[in-house]
Amino acid sequence: MSEALSVTGITRSFFGVAALNGVGFSVPQGSITGLIGPNGAGKSTLLNVVSGLITPDQGEVRFMGETVTREKPHKLAARGLTRTFQVARGFPKMSVFQHLMLYGPRQPGESLWQAPMWGAAARRREEELAERAIGIAQRLRLSHVIDNPVTELSGGQKKLVEIGRTLMAEPRMILLDEPMAGVNPSLTAEIASHLVSLNAEGITLCLIEHDMALIRQLCSYVVVMAQGRTLVTGSFDEVVENSEVQEAYLGRRY
Ligand code: ADP
Ligand code: MG
Repeated sequence: MSEALSVTGITRSFFGVAALNGVGFSVPQGSITGLIGPNGAGKSTLLNVVSGLITPDQGEVRFMGETVTREKPHKLAARGLTRTFQVARGFPKMSVFQHLMLYGPRQPGESLWQAPMWGAAARRREEELAERAIGIAQRLRLSHVIDNPVTELSGGQKKLVEIGRTLMAEPRMILLDEPMAGVNPSLTAEIASHLVSLNAEGITLCLIEHDMALIRQLCSYVVVMAQGRTLVTGSFDEVVENSEVQEAYLGRRY
C-alpha cells in the first residue's frame, strides 16, 4: 500500500533540548494510524512539524509522494493535509457556523488563498462554503448548536467543531491530536464513529490518543514514539507485545 505521509530523520530542539531526535515513520494511505507514546515523547511536536506550525532542524516530510518539509499550514491544507489541535483553538465569540466558514478555502483547487475573487464569483463561492458548513454541522450532529458561540459548547462538541474545521478544507488526510481527550464516554464513542466513517470515505487519519482501547479499536497501524524517536511500528497487538514499548510505558500493561 502506498504512503500518504512519511517523515524521515526529523530532529527539533527547544533551547538545546531535543524534543525530536530523528523520528521517522510512514502512514499508509487509507489507514487510521495511531501515534502513541508516553507524555513528552514528542508526538505533538511531530504533528506541529508535519502540519507546518514549527520548522524541523533536520529531516524530511513527504505527503502523497511530494516533499512538503517547511510548507506553511495553508499550503498543506490546499494539498489536502489538515489537523486538529489538542486544545481547540479559535475565536470564542464566533458561532459554530462562522467558525467553520472561517476555515473554508475561498477558492477551489490550486489558486487557494491567492488572488481574491470579486462580485458574483465570490458570492457563489461563499454560498458553496455556507452549504458545506451546514452539511458538515449536520453530519457531525452540531446542527442544533450551529448558531451558538463556540464557548457555549461542551468539550466534546468543541472537539467536533475542530474536526468540522478540518473538513472544510476537503482533506485527504487529517492529523488529530487527542480528539477524544477529556470527552465523556458517549461522545467519545460518537467521535470514534465519525472517524471511522470519514476513513471509510477515503480520508487517511493519523491519531494521537492515550486510550489504548480506542487505539486498538480504531487503528490498523500503530507507531510508538519515545524520547523523540520511533520505538516500534506495527499492528496494535504487535506493538503492545514489544518489551521496549512496555518499558517505555514504565511497566504499565494494556
Ligand atoms: P507529547 O505530545 O508526546 O506529550 P510534546 O511533543 O508535547 O510531547 O513534547 C515533547 C518535548 O518537547 C517535551 O519535553 C516538551 O516540553 C518539549 N516542547 C514541546 N514544545 C515546546 C516548545 N514550544 N518550547 C519548549 N519545549 C517544548
Ligand atoms: Mg501532546
